[in-house]
Amino acid sequence: MRPDILNPLFAETETLEGVGPKLKKPLERLGLTRVRDVLYHLPERFVTRRAVADLDEAGEGENIVVALTPVEHRASRNARAPYRVLAQDAKGNVLALTYFGRASYTAKKQLPVGEKRWVAGKLERYGDMLQIVHPDHVLEEGGENLGHLCEPVYRLSEGLTQPKVAGLVGQALAKAPELPEWIEAGQADREGWTGWRDALYLAHRAENATARDRLAYDELLANSLALMLVRADNRRRKGQPLKGDGSYRGKLALPFPLTGAQQRSIAEIEGDLAQDAPMLRLLQGDVGAGKTVVALEAMLIAVEAGAQAAMLAPTELLARQHFETLRRMAAPTGAEVALFTGRDKGKARESILMGLLDGSIDIVVGTHAIFQDKVAYRNLALVVIDEQHRFGVGQRLMLAGKGKRAPHVLAMTATPIPRTLTLAQYGELDVSKLDELPPGRQAIDTRVIGIERMDEVVAGVERHIAGGQQAYWVCPMVRDNETDDTAAAEARFAALKARFGNDVVMVHGQLDPGLKDAAMERFASGDAKLLVATTVIEVGVDVPAATLMVIEQAERFGLAQLHQLRGRVGRGAEKSVCLLLRSGELSETARDRLALMRETQDGFRLAEEDLRLRGGGELLGTRQSGEAAFQIADLEQITRLLPTAHDDARLLIERDGGLEGPRGEAARTLLYLFERDFGVRTLRGG
Ligand code: ADP
Ligand code: MG
Repeated sequence: MRPDILNPLFAETETLEGVGPKLKKPLERLGLTRVRDVLYHLPERFVTRRAVADLDEAGEGENIVVALTPVEHRASRNARAPYRVLAQDAKGNVLALTYFGRASYTAKKQLPVGEKRWVAGKLERYGDMLQIVHPDHVLEEGGENLGHLCEPVYRLSEGLTQPKVAGLVGQALAKAPELPEWIEAGQADREGWTGWRDALYLAHRAENATARDRLAYDELLANSLALMLVRADNRRRKGQPLKGDGSYRGKLALPFPLTGAQQRSIAEIEGDLAQDAPMLRLLQGDVGAGKTVVALEAMLIAVEAGAQAAMLAPTELLARQHFETLRRMAAPTGAEVALFTGRDKGKARESILMGLLDGSIDIVVGTHAIFQDKVAYRNLALVVIDEQHRFGVGQRLMLAGKGKRAPHVLAMTATPIPRTLTLAQYGELDVSKLDELPPGRQAIDTRVIGIERMDEVVAGVERHIAGGQQAYWVCPMVRDNETDDTAAAEARFAALKARFGNDVVMVHGQLDPGLKDAAMERFASGDAKLLVATTVIEVGVDVPAATLMVIEQAERFGLAQLHQLRGRVGRGAEKSVCLLLRSGELSETARDRLALMRETQDGFRLAEEDLRLRGGGELLGTRQSGEAAFQIADLEQITRLLPTAHDDARLLIERDGGLEGPRGEAARTLLYLFERDFGVRTLRGG
């Protein structure tokens, strides 16, 4: 049971003043559903602005406050182009206030022509024109006070503004109670850490590394505790030893011999499955290393032993792809493979449920729907989780409760995580590595090209498609704002559609899931030739006929992310090409990073180099889309603080007799505070 003291924090965001159905949506898009989430929505950075009398006083790239008088509103002819308000400063200099998407409604209201307004934002140049994109503030009066003020900058989504989010954070802070301290007093003193509540206040108010460290430490401690509890719980439970007789595996007719790494991994898994204790193993292998067939062999061992196996995929589309692949590969063995997603309805659904219950289905592939309460298995003994970094520990715990005995768990990931970080993300799992790619893979021809050669690139895509092959076009994160990413992707899509017509489809994060899946399916089936996407395609899609990838503003991506993206091509026998489009002048580091992409295709090397060149940041996956393993701790903090958090967690659990005593109590509160990410099932009843 969640401690009562946390209740105000777990209330919905609607309990905050000013949040109704209209504001709820954009908050949800940022992953903010409860007061707690708003509290932990820490500023991305802080700005200090300078008040200037006119634009002559200001430099490009500077954050300023200036009095402006709107002279003209320019709605765009093209619905995808931005909305611009031209405004004059005291000297008659003209500047554009630029708005993407629905933000133009705000502009219309806030900037009546002829009336002076204080505008705060970052001064930029766009062509010949000075501009401020999405000003942080537009005020009728009191603008002078915005100068010299240090203000937090929060990540936004469409429909939110900085002042609105800051207001909600303020309310959330006011609701935050003092919590019992879970950090050991000696350590807090040494580090100069305040209590939890004060740390939150400080972290929202100004740049404060100490406060942020403390909050990151909380998260890491909660993570370590949760992983250790799962592990301990798992050890207490009996698993089901699975010994296969080879009868199913022997009938597999794979079109290729297994690599040495695949054979080794399968042997390791087979050894684990034969034990009483449930397996907890991570199969780590670069994109294209051939994890699927390893998973199939593992699942067939379960089937040979008279049990069932399930494979969990992060999206419907991936579930369907895995299902097709596995069904095809498993066909000669006679194992019954089924697909189960949240979308199945009526008779089809009933029949699968029945098959799982009576055991006529041996292997089921699906999304998390396969672990709903209504789904009962005759004897589920092995769970394979694909791309597990997209799943919280909570889900892992949920599945642990499914079988009568704890199922064996095989997690698969292509995320190249340096060794120091495996611990943080997976705890003490056993690891099998596919460190050898199947033979005959051709290197992907990777080139870095300036954006000014866009016409050539588009012409290249056209030739490629005309030759019967497919291509990806990846659009970047444009700003810190999802709205703008979408706008940019949509604009590119519109331009490419004008050229390629119905051959182009698009997917991005704000698209309705149904539409997204439909687009992906048209592409996967070969019906559509060009897929325009934001980074949502990062994980797992397997379309061997897609042999060209264009990545726009490649310098904005992390190396690990570029590597994941590039791994979508080079999957078939055809030579594949990856074009990294860079915009304008690059810093030396940025140039080095792109050069490295050209040089190597080794995910681990890229991950380590990324860490070295940039101090990391993206290794733990897709922070921007809110699916990262950690919400607060960044890579540097993880590397620095995790070992202590890990030891601390161990002491709390082992030496202090579980989570007893006052500090143990406090640690439970901490676990509940992070409930969403780290299920607390293991705490129930002891
Ligand atoms: P991953 O999931 O690790 O990214 P997949 O399992 O999708 O990789 O495999 C990528 C491709 O390589 C698939 O088309 C698969 O059939 C093929 N493949 C797997 N193992 C081998 C092998 N030993 N030799 C040749 N091709 C293989
Ligand atoms: Mg895969």
